[in-house]
Amino acid sequence: MTESTEPSIRDLHAKILVCTLCRLSEARHTAVPGEGTVDAKVMFIGEGPGRQEDLEGRPFVGRAGKFLDECLKSIGLEREQVFITNIVKCRPTEKVRNWVKDRRPATDEIEACKPYLDKQIELFKPNVICTLGDTARSQIFKRFGLEEDTIGHVHGRLFLAGNMRIAPLYHPAAALYDNSLRQIIMIDFQNLRQVLSQNKVANS
Ligand code: URA
Repeated sequence: MTESTEPSIRDLHAKILVCTLCRLSEARHTAVPGEGTVDAKVMFIGEGPGRQEDLEGRPFVGRAGKFLDECLKSIGLEREQVFITNIVKCRPTEKVRNWVKDRRPATDEIEACKPYLDKQIELFKPNVICTLGDTARSQIFKRFGLEEDTIGHVHGRLFLAGNMRIAPLYHPAAALYDNSLRQIIMIDFQNLRQVLSQNKVANS
């Protein structure tokens, strides 16, 4: 992103904060547009904010986020050097016996939020988009006309979409439930490091 597009991204994020395009706006504390540097050339896209993100208005600040920070550090990056966002900008929840739980975003919620993500991609023009988890992978593959496949098959590989590279990664939360995935995610990040340095992106 250039300096001249900085006001546009600020305006876009201000719009997201007051968005009422879908039902997710009804229960949110705050929308989570995303965060990072204005000149990020690497964009990380997760599924949707969780409880902590909804409270703080920042993406990936819960347990999964701590692991994401660790993965970024392991390849010499801080979250401030990239841009982190989600497919939907408000927390999707469901009530299970008086418990408010996170859930996957519904198709109409994803569709309602799509123009925001499209605009972010248009403004940032990232060299590399890293999708975190299968919801983000599926949406980004669809957007760029890539053939549908499972995250188990495509994680750690690199896909071309015009000038952009798409790197599908497991969701960092997966490592919290399945320890064997932790190692796989770390290896995929090491591959990402090579991609970034070969393409001279991410201020690396
Ligand atoms: N999980 C996501 O997909 N996004 C967040 O921001 C936090 C957890």
